Amino acid sequence: MSPGIYLHIPFCRAKCLYCDFCSYAGYEALHAPYADALIQQIEAHAAFWRRGMDGAPPYDTLYVGGGTPTVLPSERLAALREACGRALALPPGVEATVEANPGTVTRASLEELARGGYNRLSLGVQSLDNDELALLGRIHDRQAALDAMADARAAGLRNISLDLMFGLPHQTLARWRANLEQALELAPEHLSLYALTLEEHTPLAAQVARGALPTPDDDLAADMYELAQELLAAAGYEQYEISNWARRSPDDLPGAIPLLACRHNLHYWRNEHYLGLGAGAHGYDDTGRYAHTADPAEYVRRIAADESTLVSSEPITREQAMDETMMLGLRLNQGVSRQVFQRRFGVALEDVYAEALAELAGTGLLESDAEGIRLTSRGRLLGNRVFGAFLR
Ligand code: SF4
Repeated sequence: MSPGIYLHIPFCRAKCLYCDFCSYAGYEALHAPYADALIQQIEAHAAFWRRGMDGAPPYDTLYVGGGTPTVLPSERLAALREACGRALALPPGVEATVEANPGTVTRASLEELARGGYNRLSLGVQSLDNDELALLGRIHDRQAALDAMADARAAGLRNISLDLMFGLPHQTLARWRANLEQALELAPEHLSLYALTLEEHTPLAAQVARGALPTPDDDLAADMYELAQELLAAAGYEQYEISNWARRSPDDLPGAIPLLACRHNLHYWRNEHYLGLGAGAHGYDDTGRYAHTADPAEYVRRIAADESTLVSSEPITREQAMDETMMLGLRLNQGVSRQVFQRRFGVALEDVYAEALAELAGTGLLESDAEGIRLTSRGRLLGNRVFGAFLR
């Protein structure tokens, strides 16, 4: 299992009204020192990695997420990719994703990213409806999203994922259908669809709480999800995770993860190790899970002072690792493989989760065969109920 590398860029042009991610607007003066500090951290980690992981396989994916990575100049993002190659032996040609938001990219900047070794773009479109984009407080409009997609194609990017959100206040099934149909016309290789979550202390949650916006309707959101499953399947996309679809390619094997799935995110769903660097980044290795300070100014200060940027690290017990493997793995359509579980933990899945499996038997939420266990399509709608049963 080669780990992936996650780099966090905690900056955005403006804060969207629903966002509680680790991202800050108005920190332009920190952009350059932050990118330099991140390269320093990659290099410092390399020294540690080369000492401690002699002979270990090299990292096999890179994901630069945010925030909005593309608020940084493309040359700086290219320098991050270069540092991962040089210092961490990230091989050329492996999946290297950069997240981007419409309104922060041009054809020239995307060309620079492609030249710099990024071969996958995750574009935060969220909606192709101007009213919905305004309601979410996004900095872009529909035209900017279409332009970003056209520019990415013109820049030679051949693996593009679009993010869309559903279950928005005032969003009807017809408007959601229109969003999906327009997104499909753009023929992305990959789609990630997320239901809006009203996070506490966000302006959008406050608007809903004071009645300025209607509360999103869970039943309608479930209908939207089912509509997406239907339209995307008909358009040649394979769902491989609760929120993720990849365009089918001729070399896909039946029942296997599609070739155009996000390889980096598969590390998370398979509960594998990954290196997380940057302010607000989390990582997972032999020692457990760890997190870096979420404050970018503090992060830059600590790197300059040669201090650790970690603010937490927590060992993961074998029991926790098993539970997490179940909860994350069940998000995949493929589910959790009996063989892989047995190989990793030296015990049969049935023996550990007899109680959970008995509790869920007959609910129609889980299916089980010789290969493994997985959610049914009804189970995908009620995933949290299933995941809870595997938490000991
Ligand atoms: S672009 Fe993404 S990370 Fe930035 S504020 Fe909006 S939702 Fe948050």
